[in-house]
Amino acid sequence: MNGNRPSGTSRLALSDPSLLSSRALVGGDWVDADAGGTCEVTNPADGTRVGTIPDMGAAEARRAIDAAHAAFPAWSRRSAGERAEVLGRMHALLIEHQEDLARLMTAEQGKPLAEARGEVAYAASYLQWFAEEARRAYGDTIPGHAADARILTLRQPVGVVAAITPWNFPSAMLARKLAPALAAGCTVVAKPATQTPLSALALGVLAGRAGVPAGVLNIVTGRDAAAIGGELTGNAKVRKLSFTGSTAVGKTLMAQCAAGMKRISMELGGNAPFIVFEDADLDAAVEGAIASKFRNTGQTCICANRLFVHEAVYDAFAARLGDAMAKLRVGDGLAGETDQGPLIDGKALEKVEEHVADAVARGARVAMGGRRHALGGTFYEPTLLLGATPDMLLAREETFGPVAPLFRFSSEDEAVALANDTEAGLAGYFYTRDLARAWRVAEALECGIVGINTGRVSTAVAPFGGVKESGTGREGSKYGLDDYTELKYVCIGGIRPGTP
Ligand code: ADP
Repeated sequence: MNGNRPSGTSRLALSDPSLLSSRALVGGDWVDADAGGTCEVTNPADGTRVGTIPDMGAAEARRAIDAAHAAFPAWSRRSAGERAEVLGRMHALLIEHQEDLARLMTAEQGKPLAEARGEVAYAASYLQWFAEEARRAYGDTIPGHAADARILTLRQPVGVVAAITPWNFPSAMLARKLAPALAAGCTVVAKPATQTPLSALALGVLAGRAGVPAGVLNIVTGRDAAAIGGELTGNAKVRKLSFTGSTAVGKTLMAQCAAGMKRISMELGGNAPFIVFEDADLDAAVEGAIASKFRNTGQTCICANRLFVHEAVYDAFAARLGDAMAKLRVGDGLAGETDQGPLIDGKALEKVEEHVADAVARGARVAMGGRRHALGGTFYEPTLLLGATPDMLLAREETFGPVAPLFRFSSEDEAVALANDTEAGLAGYFYTRDLARAWRVAEALECGIVGINTGRVSTAVAPFGGVKESGTGREGSKYGLDDYTELKYVCIGGIRPGTP
């Protein structure tokens, strides 16, 4: 029961239409904005309307926080096993509805359907992982500092968590925050990206079916992100903010959280180096580059942004990468099998165009693509740029598009120095068959995540997060619960020897 109004296009053809919500979730009720305003959600592949969402602001966010705060005592007091069961049921529901969730995601986000299916499975894997981890929020006993003292640590939920998520992975980025929060005993107010709120609302529908109690998960939608974010960061009832998005917004939110000394997790932008050494398996490197660079049309924070190729294999790698890129099928993910969808919006398209124009003006050569795709809209051709140099815009900023710029290097030290010459530090990749080099470079890269001989590093079992301006905190893995728990130290004194 969620009281959703039917909405959306027939092209979606969901087998369970109630997954498409046009209302937000506050305190267990599916609600409209106070003033009744709505925003349209459109399909980036063709501009058609997929649905509408309530255009909420600070007042609705405040009510959602109150609901989460009221729900916290009962949820946090449930046994870890009970919370694990709820998360386990939610995992099963995501898998059961994988196809509908994938179609909805492709419709609002634009990614190929196969990638959307993969993301739903990936989102579900976080629920499964943290259902298991919920039972393992162990504390310690510590040898006391005095003969009559005993010391314990307890791990307790931080309280109400605000989760602000981006449009590039609309389900996984929410599941990655929601699952550890709920496992730890926290309650959540989520604010999904305005471009892709429908996947989040669908997770809200399934959360209800899984038995997540009213108020434990709230989802507030609207176009005024600053107003909602202002309430989430300013309200004293919120004890933690978990944010995934741009570095600029992350810094603003971090500053806002400082006033109330809120806990923060920040998963921000990257500028991933992808290094191909002269001893690399070039076919494997090409395969990895395609996976890392072109997944989600290059719109991922861990996607290869700068490809550094040793001069001895530069031409061979460029030729093979070009051959692989020529096979990428660009198109509307709901219309057939595709490998690359549209960019999320006109702003994203303009940024890609600006980066390519700047690179060309500074001497790069377009070996493939380099312009808008014949499909029109925000489609852009898979693009290969040769002769990239560090002074180019695309070396300093994330392009967030299907553009592979190839830089040339001649030594390991030079490659590492180039790779680290950025404020970002999320993911880094390199290909080599030399074991000593593998260790040296893995240790030298200033990133939170390193892929050696692979372009695929995302999994719920590993800690995901960055260093430098890519953020703070880790999501997933056995460490992922830490960000949602407080470590309390309990000292018990007066334990004197008993009298015989
Ligand atoms: P992107 O460039 O990927 O769109 P953003 O950082 O702008 O990244 O957006 C990520 C999330 O942060 C989205 O949910 C967006 O609505 C939200 N957001 C953007 N600006 C603010 C803000 N000032 N306060 C709170 N949330 C914001």
